[in-house]
Amino acid sequence: MSISQNINSILEKIPSNVQLVAVSKTKPKEDIIEAYEGGYRVFGENKPQELAQKYKDLPKDIEWHFIGHLQTNKVKYIAPFVQLIHAVDSIKLLIEINKQAEKNDRVINCLLQFHIAAEETKFGLNLEEAKTLLGSEDFKSLQSIRIVGVMGMATYSNDENLIRKEFRSLAFIFESLKSWFFINKEEFKEISMGMSGDYMLAIKEGSTMIRVGSSIFGSRY
Ligand SMILES: *Cc1c(COP(=O)(O)O)cnc(C)c1O
Repeated sequence: MSISQNINSILEKIPSNVQLVAVSKTKPKEDIIEAYEGGYRVFGENKPQELAQKYKDLPKDIEWHFIGHLQTNKVKYIAPFVQLIHAVDSIKLLIEINKQAEKNDRVINCLLQFHIAAEETKFGLNLEEAKTLLGSEDFKSLQSIRIVGVMGMATYSNDENLIRKEFRSLAFIFESLKSWFFINKEEFKEISMGMSGDYMLAIKEGSTMIRVGSSIFGSRY
């Protein structure tokens, strides 16, 4: 199947309130153009400079999501145009995003990344750390960022029960933060979870945003 056909077959399977982020990392511009010509507009990348280059070269009505770990010194490359930063896991990074957003006279949407997997290596906060962050004076002073939800990655595994449990823990974290910090904030509504191997399971557990790469563009080498 072509890239556009892959996108359409995923869109047919998922509820209309779930957003598909087509993860085009490492893939050439031609692949993105093919998806674009098929009508798709929402893409995810995980390297700031690669994303900035693709932004420069491709149509400006594409909605770019940054989905990977972001170093503070690289925020500047994506701040002028990025639609959503999925994986924020420190106040230091938020302060830098806020600063770059101000410079560009815009507000940047962010998700807080949580560590929900059994693997040690993945980035992300736990609930206690998020409470401290969201309750801090530093956080409250940031006017140019908007926290619109949470993001997490399940363990890379075939164990469906484990993955389900991890997605459930992220949905629980979302509900907890919603009631403690965002009760009247309508914009706090996204749960970004689910990739090629597990997006249907993620949606069952409450995902509002799935990040799918290899099922659309083929495997990465
Ligand atoms: C690469 C990546 C994806 C997409 O993974 P696939 O298994 O190819 O769908 C999703 N989220 C993040 C954070 C990624 O880095």
